[in-house]
Order: sequence, then C-alpha cells, then structure tokens
Amino acid sequence: MPKIDKNASSGASGSDLDPTDWAEFRALAHDLLDDLITHIETVRQKPVWQKPTAEVRARFSRSLPHAPNALSTVFDDVRAHIMPFATGNLHPLFMGWVHGAGTPVGMIAELVAAGLNLNCGGRDHVGIDVERQIVLWMREALGYPADASGLFVTGSSMANFLALIIAKIEALGPLSRETGLRSADHALVAYTSSEAHGCIAQAMQLSGLGSANLRTIAVDSLGRMRSDELRAQIARDRAQGFLPFLIVGTAGTVNTGAIDPLEDLAAIASEENLWFHVDGAIGALATFSPELRSLFSGLEKSDSVALDFHKWGHVPYDAGFLLVRDGTAHKRAFAQSAAYLQRADRGLAAGETWPCDLGPDLSRGCRALKTWMTIEVLGADRIGRSIAQTCALARHLAERLQGHPMIEIKAPVALNIVCFGIRGARPEMLRELILDVQESGTAAPSWTMLNGELVARCAIVNHRTTSADLDGFVSALFERMSELGFE
Ligand SMILES: *Cc1c(COP(=O)(O)O)cnc(C)c1O
Repeated sequence: MPKIDKNASSGASGSDLDPTDWAEFRALAHDLLDDLITHIETVRQKPVWQKPTAEVRARFSRSLPHAPNALSTVFDDVRAHIMPFATGNLHPLFMGWVHGAGTPVGMIAELVAAGLNLNCGGRDHVGIDVERQIVLWMREALGYPADASGLFVTGSSMANFLALIIAKIEALGPLSRETGLRSADHALVAYTSSEAHGCIAQAMQLSGLGSANLRTIAVDSLGRMRSDELRAQIARDRAQGFLPFLIVGTAGTVNTGAIDPLEDLAAIASEENLWFHVDGAIGALATFSPELRSLFSGLEKSDSVALDFHKWGHVPYDAGFLLVRDGTAHKRAFAQSAAYLQRADRGLAAGETWPCDLGPDLSRGCRALKTWMTIEVLGADRIGRSIAQTCALARHLAERLQGHPMIEIKAPVALNIVCFGIRGARPEMLRELILDVQESGTAAPSWTMLNGELVARCAIVNHRTTSADLDGFVSALFERMSELGFE
C-alpha cells in the first residue's frame, strides 16, 4: 500500500474545505458554543417569540455567495439574525401546538453526530448499533417482543405513513409492491377517530388508497374513539364488499390529549384480523412515567406504534420513530435488492438488516445518537417525571383559568393539554387575543377547533415550565382580556 502522511493536517492543501487556521476555528467555535449554552440557560429572560425583523428577512434574501465570508462574520450573523428569532419552543411559556423544548445534552449530541457525519442508512458502523439500542429500549418500554423492529424517521407523520404502508402490503401480499392496487379485488378501508391527526388521512392519500377510504369513527364526550361505532362500521363495510385492513388508534390526541380505548381496539383488531396501529406521537413516551403508564394499557398489543422523541422526550428536532411488532413484515414492505447495497459477511458491508431495508430513506443522519445521549444522561425515570409534571401543570392551569368568570374549559384535561374558550366571545376575538399574547412575547398559546368551535389551546410540553410561569401567563392573559373589554 502507498504510504500516507498521517501527520499532515486537513486544511493544509488549500483545496479542501477545512479551516486553514485550526486554532482560530477552535476559538471561534468554542465562543459560539458558549453563546448557545447561555442562550438556553437564560431563555426565560427573553421574549418567547419575536417576529424576524425586516433586516433579518432581508439578510436571507441575498443571492448565492461565490466568495468566502469570514467565519467570525457568519457566526455573528447567527448571533444577530438567527438566535433571537427561533420558534420559541425552548421557552417555558411556549404552549402552542405540541412542541418539545430540547435539552443542552441533546444539543451537544447533535454536534457529535454532525462532527462524525454518520450516515445511518446502513453499513457496519456504530451509528447502526446506537439505533438498535433505541429499538431495544423502546421494545422494553412499550412491551413489544424481541423480534420487533424499529426505525428513526423525521416525525410521527412519516412513522404513521410507513405503518400504513406496511399494513397495506400485509393485507394485499408482497406482490402488491409490484402490481400496486390492481392486486386488490376490494377497496381497502381503514378506521380512525374523528379526533385523529390529519397525517392519517394524508397517509391514505399518499398511499394511493384515498382518504375517502378512511372511516372517521365518532368519539365519546372524552374525545375517545367509540368502539361500538367502530364495530358497527366494520360490519357495514364488510357487508358492502369493502376490505377493512387497519385500525389507527391515538394515544394522546393532538386537540385534547384524549387516549382511545386501546384494549378495546386491540380486541376488535384481533377478532377482525386487522392491523392495529397506534399513533403515539404525543402519548407513547408517557409510558416512561409509572404514574401515567396504566392510561395506555393495550398499547403493548398493537402491531405498530408511531412516536416522537422530539415532543415529550425533548430530543432536538427531528426524532420520530416507528416500532413494528413483526420485524419481518416491516422488512417485507421496504427491503429491496440493489447491487450497490449488497451485503457481505465482513467489512463495511456487513449486517443483515440495515435501516434502509425498513423505510424509504437511504441516506439518513443519526437521530439515534441524540436520542441515546438524552436518555442515557437523563434516564427514563427523570423524563417520565417531567412528563407527569406537565400533566399536573395542565390541571393547575385549567384551575387558574377557571378563576375568571368568562373562561370556560372546553375539554377534560386528559394529559397535558388545556382547551378553553371565552363565554360570549366571537371566534375572531379569541383569535385576536391569542395573537396579541403571542406578539407580546410573554407566552405562546395556540388555537384549534373542537366540535366545530374555535378554542384556545395550551399544551404544556416543556420540562422548564413551572406553576409560577403559568400563573404569570394567566395574569397577563386576564390583563389583556380586560383591556379588550372582556369583564
Ligand atoms: C405531532 C403529531 C403528529 C405528527 O407528528 P410530527 O412529528 O409532527 O410529524 C401525529 N399525530 C399526533 C397525535 C401528533 O400530536
């Protein structure tokens, strides 16, 4: 073999893309890292959110730079034009939608993953082992068997989509991967509740099955799928010649945090021989909390679960995950033979199953590393306690809000989400109030529709949120309400 000069440092040739001055790079990088750590440490002192200024918007509408810029100039851009204008979800009073807050250790993990630039589509390296470690942990946490398989994806939208594809191929047979929907004699129909996340209907659209073939089953007064209605709808569909293939239950709905009767759904799926998938985007990680775990009984009987480490697990975006009971069914849906992906019994091409056999992504980053470091450093129990704490805080918030004679809680607080309205207020006024609060920088609630009615919604996901933060929010909200004439 030719001799390689192992003492030469990168950057010395001038034609590579590494820094020419490593000492300068090291110093500037350390400074930026310090600033990021301070940013997280002092996030409570800053506005939750502020709109990017005109100057910021202008900064990001320039044309392609052909010449280099000094590293320090670009780092200063990051400080001035990016860091102050982020989503806001680090802040304890960010309560809009359902956003994770991240953690400092997750940030460092991203740095490590990017530094090593792991490509986790396949091949034999430790990144694949780290991902397998998470599969092992999630099998354990969710009560899945030892041959269950798992895969990191962007988020639960993608995980739900992949689960639907697996269920479809199991229903139609593996040949349908080639023949498509022509191998179906009957139209496939799936079932979910009227409170299911919109990505389920979208998955039906993307799969070619069509969202008209998704039956949305009515919910009870607690927002949970009605299993009697589900049974009746399956019977009607069978009588009409449809082919039921999938039930999608939700463990923590996006609107109110309601948990479908998972035991009942598992029993129906088993009797009817349907795939039982659970959208656990919000709720699945609540099984880390002994106090909450029993609410999710039946989850362990599902065929697949979608979940998000980036929500209640606070792994930095993005870190969605799919767990599939029957690992061979999972692989059957996605594995393909390509010459450049051939395996060997040794060397870099070793390994029987690679992540690229379990989903459509080939090149993919190492979402597993930040998940592993987060759970390894914090421990599942501590994450579980912070999840349980957000649920307690949601109940506290609901109580405090009810201290105002005009405020009405609009849905039972099943987990960590509080939906409320203002008696007699027109929907536009409620929207204006929420937008005012967002723009003031004090807090970020959002809104949703419940039973056709616009309601304000606070999802307490953030591990940093305290009852004092929420009391401050309630005071600010009441004050703004009185300025707007809600007395
Ligand atoms: C957030 C969410 C999704 C979508 O997950 P992403 O990670 O945003 O793709 C799906 N279902 C439920 C219940 C959710 O809360």
